[in-house]
Amino acid sequence: MNIFEKIIDKQIPAQIIYEDDYALAFHDIDPQAPIHILVIPKKKGIKGLQEVDGETMVHMTTAIQNVAKAMGLDESGYRVITNNGDDAGQEVPHLHFHVLGGTRLGHIHHRDDTHKSL
Ligand code: AMP
Repeated sequence: MNIFEKIIDKQIPAQIIYEDDYALAFHDIDPQAPIHILVIPKKKGIKGLQEVDGETMVHMTTAIQNVAKAMGLDESGYRVITNNGDDAGQEVPHLHFHVLGGTRLGHIHHRDDTHKSL
């Protein structure tokens, strides 16, 4: 079981800020912005965006919207990132959406190591 599946099963603790029947959201352990929340499906076995079904994505969208409201980001704005696979630097093989906000975000997440001018 990967670390996020253990969080779903409450085998390891997380700072959970939102939960519904389909999704769980908690603070990232290594925040990259004043507010950095991870939103994950409770359904197991979804490694990333290539594996996810449309119905789960509908629930993820709702969860992200609710998390943004709960964290007061819905009006100020926020960024959603999902890393898929090795080239994107995905560390945890369970679909997750980074929700970042609480400040004016730079565009560092659009860059890569080989195209510095982007
Ligand atoms: P990614 O690189 O997209 O797979 O992102 C994985 C994220 O999970 C990183 O931002 C980590 O800081 C975060 N993370 C890893 N373990 C935990 C944990 N136990 N609780 C909260 N966040 C975690």
